[in-house]
Amino acid sequence: MRVGVLGGGQLGRMLGLAGIPLGIRFRFLDPGPDAPARQVGEWIRGGYGKLEALETFVSGLDLVTWEFENVPVETAQTLRDRVAVRPNPVALERAQDRKVEKQLFRSLGIPTASFRTVDSREELLRAGADLGFPAVLKTRRMGYDGKGQRLLQSARDVDGAWAELQGSPLILEAFVPFRRELSIVGARGKDGKVVFYPLVENRHRSGILVRTEAPAPQVPSALEELAQSYLRRLMGEMEYVGVLALELFHVGDDLFANEMAPRVHNSGHWTQDGALTSQFENHIRAVTGLPLGPTDPEGVTIMVNTIGRVPSPAAVLRLPGTHLHLYDKVPRPGRKLGHVNVRGATRADARERARAVEELLGDLEGHQ
Ligand code: AMP
Repeated sequence: MRVGVLGGGQLGRMLGLAGIPLGIRFRFLDPGPDAPARQVGEWIRGGYGKLEALETFVSGLDLVTWEFENVPVETAQTLRDRVAVRPNPVALERAQDRKVEKQLFRSLGIPTASFRTVDSREELLRAGADLGFPAVLKTRRMGYDGKGQRLLQSARDVDGAWAELQGSPLILEAFVPFRRELSIVGARGKDGKVVFYPLVENRHRSGILVRTEAPAPQVPSALEELAQSYLRRLMGEMEYVGVLALELFHVGDDLFANEMAPRVHNSGHWTQDGALTSQFENHIRAVTGLPLGPTDPEGVTIMVNTIGRVPSPAAVLRLPGTHLHLYDKVPRPGRKLGHVNVRGATRADARERARAVEELLGDLEGHQ
């Protein structure tokens, strides 16, 4: 079977690494100069809107999926005339605009932060007065890793934030005073069968995920079930096939949805070394119609992202319990270049091991 992937970043690379043993061949479409997936399949270098590149890409494929959620919806729809596209491209449309996404959450009874759309400075002032401060101003489209957003502590920050972000459609969100950030990753097969990985706890720095602990500590079963019910509703509504991730704020005993990712997700990377089946394998299994694999965690796994600098493999692997995943990307400050999964039999073990990894990586980042 030949699977085409829109996007050839690290997520595509890890989809390839998981799918090749299942007998699947990959082709990636990516406009960038150094697509990390190029080593695990054929690489067509071209833009997602370029008809000629799309024609070369789709020829001979059995199926198309994506690893990049900002692929133009029209591209996914056009490809649908030629070949099966999974997940349903409607998921791209819903996930690409924060307003549409939040409206979807709310229509399914999934709580979100209060929000207002903002298209002028006056609207921003009004939205600030309505929602109160602090509040977070975000571009509605193309935001990732904390890019395209500003925290407004008070009305005094309005002008600075407006000056930086004006020009794009915006949304102002009430600041959520969360206890912690959690996420849930699940997969839905072609037959509608759904599997869930456990809730995980995420830590961000400057809007970038730096650490995931899996399973999250102190999760009562009611909270796990709530998260699963939200993901199940989203998957059902979008007739979704593949892996879907939902980022959540844990507030009191409630969960507020922040955003969804209609693809494999950074907070699911731990599954490569800490769950019976990885999220990458389950995405490939789902979209190709294979049975989904068990999602049970093994011990406790902590995923630490490698940002800005590449560590020496020997230095990482010398530490107990570590698995290294490098993406072969050119180092740049703030760029995700790899991750380390650290597993322990107990939470205390995993945390102690993760501390050693964080110290090593922290030393590297300190030299940036
Ligand atoms: P996002 O790009 O929406 O995932 O935001 C990146 C990170 O910024 C989140 O993971 C949170 O740490 C923080 N953040 C975003 N929106 C809010 C909010 N409304 N309230 C509090 N923190 C937020």
